Amino acid sequence: MHQLDYVPAGKELYHGLWMQHKCYNVRIPHLFGFGFLDGHHARASTQANMPGEITVTGFTSRDVRFPTSLDRTGSDAMNAAGDYSAAYCVLETDAQHSGHGMTFTIGRGNDLVCAAINHVAERVRGRTLSSLVANWGQTWRFLVSDSQLRWIGPEKGVIHLALGAVVNALWDLWAKVLGKPVWRVVADMTPEQLVDCIDFRYITDAITRDEALAMLRAREHGKTARLRDALENLAVPAYTTSAGWLGYGEDKLRHLLREALDQGYKHFKLKVGGSLDEDRRRLSIARDVIGYDRGNVLMIDANQVWSVPEAVEHMRYLSDFKPWFIEEPTSPDDIVGHKTVRDALKPLGVGVATGEMCQNRVIFKQLLQMGAIDVCQIDACRLGGVNEVLAVLLMAAKYGVPVVPHSGGVGLPEYTQHLSTIDYVVVSGKRSVLEYVDHLHEHFLHPSAIKDGYYQTPLEPGYSVEMKPESMDRYEFPGEEGVSWWRSEEAKPILEGPKV
Ligand SMILES: [Mg+2]
Repeated sequence: MHQLDYVPAGKELYHGLWMQHKCYNVRIPHLFGFGFLDGHHARASTQANMPGEITVTGFTSRDVRFPTSLDRTGSDAMNAAGDYSAAYCVLETDAQHSGHGMTFTIGRGNDLVCAAINHVAERVRGRTLSSLVANWGQTWRFLVSDSQLRWIGPEKGVIHLALGAVVNALWDLWAKVLGKPVWRVVADMTPEQLVDCIDFRYITDAITRDEALAMLRAREHGKTARLRDALENLAVPAYTTSAGWLGYGEDKLRHLLREALDQGYKHFKLKVGGSLDEDRRRLSIARDVIGYDRGNVLMIDANQVWSVPEAVEHMRYLSDFKPWFIEEPTSPDDIVGHKTVRDALKPLGVGVATGEMCQNRVIFKQLLQMGAIDVCQIDACRLGGVNEVLAVLLMAAKYGVPVVPHSGGVGLPEYTQHLSTIDYVVVSGKRSVLEYVDHLHEHFLHPSAIKDGYYQTPLEPGYSVEMKPESMDRYEFPGEEGVSWWRSEEAKPILEGPKV
């Protein structure tokens, strides 16, 4: 059994830590009754402290693509040559703040998500921020309720990816106005305020509002200590996928694994799903470097390449490498298939993980109800933003399944560090691990960072995905002549090469 709740030895309660923390020294009057930055939980009158009302005056979408296919970063059994991309939604306001949200894609089609963002964001134009966040669950329902747009979902596919970008942009804006990181906005909510963020339609057969409330109230016990862990950067242990992309050669794999080991990582994920011989060779290298008995954990990811019988068969030949789980063994829509694979692999000691392409809370509900997964891999933008993620976190906690978010993509670690912190501090109360890929962070104003194997808890106000303006201009697609990389000679091998 894997120990998921790592409680570091010698971490005693440290009263008043957050009072002293640099980020929380600033007092900013709150909006909507969620307290002050210095950690006071006093809930003063909402109206008394409300600064001038903020209105969403407009929005832009931006198609930003990084040419990662050139060196096959991000390559796996299904996605041979992705260009890590972000479909951005920037909400403009009549105040100093703007809201930044994005959805991750891997290149072609990013423009489709941008087009859909324009449709969804139109629904918040002219709305005040306070009216949007006063009853978040209702706002989320409103955003998925344009009947004509719903037809091209519902709540899945391109329109839902766009919803994630818009909803997350609203959270970013709200958190910036409150002067807090998004995780802290949620951590400072009462259980009632948190459940009011959720649209419970379609999931009440798995979890009701009252059950969620009872769980959150029970979890208040120990929350102060967990909050302190977060402020000491001990809430979210990281695992790395950066060594194990399928397109990397064996020497590079060995070298990157050693490097990650030296950096303090204990969890390592490798892509599989090529030939059996190739998979066995790569996993042998991995176990050669990380060992079997040094407390290091191996995970593997097939990115949906197998049918259900193939997944079972292939994994019988890989189980001797003792992976904690096989991720995405088959189609993300196949709930019964995951259950079949899980049942078959249980005697071999291998778990099943999925979620990065699960389209909404309904699929997660069924995976959890059926006992089809050992690990729940939420995605920050494939789900419809923070609100739907909260719904899935609560269901996973109810069913006792650890949450290990999908984070292998540009901007995803920036997002998911907030979600894993929320899960630990507020929802499950248990430490899990969170994927980290060491690519493209330099383009963000407040990049995520790992130290000694842990995510460094984000403290800047917002949702951490705001990109540097010069990076956006440089990698905008198709971009401006003389500005965008995509107009350069270097881009021609991608633009004119085969589409794989
Ligand atoms: Mg994966």
